Amino acid sequence: MNKLQLPAYDDSAAFVDLSKNAKVGSYPHLQPFVAKVKASYAQYIAVNGEPTLVQNLAISQVAVRFLEGHYESPPNDLAHIATMRDRSEHLVCPMCGSMHSGTLDHYLPRKDFPIFVVFSKNLVPACKCNVRRNRTLLGPNPGERVLHPYFDACLSERLVSARFEDLGTIPKVSLGLMISNAHPHYSAIDFHVRSIVQKSAVVKYLADRWSAMFRKPSLVVRAFEKNMRTQSEVKSLLERERDFLDDLHKGKNNWNSIFVSGLLDPIVLSWLAEKLSMHGRVQDSPLG
Ligand SMILES: [Zn+2]
Repeated sequence: MNKLQLPAYDDSAAFVDLSKNAKVGSYPHLQPFVAKVKASYAQYIAVNGEPTLVQNLAISQVAVRFLEGHYESPPNDLAHIATMRDRSEHLVCPMCGSMHSGTLDHYLPRKDFPIFVVFSKNLVPACKCNVRRNRTLLGPNPGERVLHPYFDACLSERLVSARFEDLGTIPKVSLGLMISNAHPHYSAIDFHVRSIVQKSAVVKYLADRWSAMFRKPSLVVRAFEKNMRTQSEVKSLLERERDFLDDLHKGKNNWNSIFVSGLLDPIVLSWLAEKLSMHGRVQDSPLG
């Protein structure tokens, strides 16, 4: 999960150019919808893409089919879609927090909101979680919805942490929310974590990180190549590591920050400090 800057492309101007472009197959079928599309784009931004407020205006099936084709294989007027695909591939997935993206996802699913199929503000980079998400958007209870990486500022806050129990070679791993249920966007955050993040490979990733750390602590936190003296030393190294990862990945909810954040839980911290400061321990040796 990550907050992203709103793409700066002028979608309305691009759509006007596309509608006038006699060299593409969609000409002149998009022309009757120019005003409607421009108004829809403006309204989407005005309501921050909030699914229950966005007006979902209809356009013809023919226009939808052409737009779908343009999304898959963007003509010059929509070259920014190809750019968006290429630029984000190696970055943290803003939807689930995995360490790569690889594809674009429609925040408002294209099957349900076809008018926004080529709208850059509705196109968010995502990893494989995009396929698992499918058309998930709203939950059954008030406020439950998928978060929007361009508009939901709460994605910049620390929302999720790993939770480790039964500490040892193979602990029990889960995710915990770092916010209270008084948070103004609690329902949306909780829904997003349950329906997108939990269904990704995050728990497997966290378990693998743990087992790497158990085998050789410096593989996960470089500073752990030395034995530690006190719990407060371990704590401050972990906090520094977490802040470094936040900075590197431009957000606090990538899987690596989520992992280190889980090590800062008081019980885990105390377990870890005891292992790393054990008298006579060989530096960087397994924790058990
Ligand atoms: Zn993802």
